[in-house]
Amino acid sequence: MSFSSLGLRPELARAVADKGYDAPTPIQAQAIPLILEGRDLMGSAQTGTGKTAGFTLPILQRLAQPGQKSKSGRAVRALAVVPTRELAIQVHQSVEDYGKWLRLDSTAVFGGVNINPQKKRLARGVDFLVATPGRLLDLVGQDAVDLSRVEVLVLDEADRMLDMGFIRDIRKLLALLPQKKQTLLFSATFSDAIKQLANGLLHKPATVEVGRRNRAVDTVEQLVHPVEKSRKRELLSYLVGSGQWQQVLVFGRTKHGANRLAKQLNTDGIKASAIHGNKSQGARTKALAEFKAGKIQVLVATDIAARGLDIEQLPHVVNYELPNVAEDYVHRIGRTGRAGARGHAISLVSGEESGLLREIERFIKREIPREVVPGYSADIGARKAVEKTGQKAGQKIGQVTSDKPKRRRRRRRPSAQRRAAA
Ligand code: AMP
Repeated sequence: MSFSSLGLRPELARAVADKGYDAPTPIQAQAIPLILEGRDLMGSAQTGTGKTAGFTLPILQRLAQPGQKSKSGRAVRALAVVPTRELAIQVHQSVEDYGKWLRLDSTAVFGGVNINPQKKRLARGVDFLVATPGRLLDLVGQDAVDLSRVEVLVLDEADRMLDMGFIRDIRKLLALLPQKKQTLLFSATFSDAIKQLANGLLHKPATVEVGRRNRAVDTVEQLVHPVEKSRKRELLSYLVGSGQWQQVLVFGRTKHGANRLAKQLNTDGIKASAIHGNKSQGARTKALAEFKAGKIQVLVATDIAARGLDIEQLPHVVNYELPNVAEDYVHRIGRTGRAGARGHAISLVSGEESGLLREIERFIKREIPREVVPGYSADIGARKAVEKTGQKAGQKIGQVTSDKPKRRRRRRRPSAQRRAAA
């Protein structure tokens, strides 16, 4: 199947070809014709499935209909509401990429940066606006944007927006939009709260789903390394160093912890940076760019900061701490092994986290293999962790071997040795 056979105009097919895509992904093949028909849509798809192009392309086609632009003047015609600044930047980039052969204006607005340049940009007129909820409401409050003529609304990662407490902002925004419009709602999960939101918002929606076949839990190689909490950093440095991992996304639970870990890794000679909600937009963009360019080896992120990050074919994801919500585990490991590439997701689990681990395993309906890295261990209850001694087995994931590492990066001696030496 080709993009033009989906009914997309030549300018869009050309932009897609420029990106090097050969064929639509499953979500694109399903969603694009439905959106072009003008249907409301409920999509269950996560980042990595090609869903952004799945909604951006048909919306651009609609906006490009001749004679439509002058009718709306300065008013926004397509609005995508997204949970995070990073996702706003990424979706806007897609709009720019796919719309590059069309004469349409787009911009992204999000919090954490000066509002004035955004007001100026909006004053020049924008057809397709990508926004986070809070900043968009601020702009509405300052009369900087007219949403009364929105023709297409996208709520992207709706579940995450609800998790982040944006429901009131979203309801306020919805009240500002015209009744008659096309609405597309994407969510990784369909909780009661999402269904309730969708019921009041969508009109006879079509539903699209990407098949279970693509689920990260099925395609990503997962492993648990039991380890005492106090020795996690040491083990992480060892794994990164001995496995010569070049690009690792590490998940921590708190902003403070993420900062501290990045600092400690740098002390261990591993180039690392942290990305979370307290960092300035500039710092977050810089860290992400450096990580993508290979200048930073380890990016330590909190769940919210990492959600929606488009980093292609990330080879390693490490759960430095398990998430409190089992579902976040699936989002986290979905950062690796994308588009058919093989990925590894490793969780460093301490005794205190054994309950969380069991919840995750219940949620993904499988047991994650335990593997003790020699010299590190912890009692994580229930299932006994097996110490791998075979070279082959140890090397299967991340080249962990049962031998002592040949080359270590300024690694501290294991605490038992330190105690003995003291
Ligand atoms: P998304 O799920 O929208 O975040 O997209 C994930 C990644 O897939 C992005 O890097 C896109 O550039 C890429 N992508 C989107 N559509 C296609 C396609 N049809 N073929 C190959 N890659 C694609």
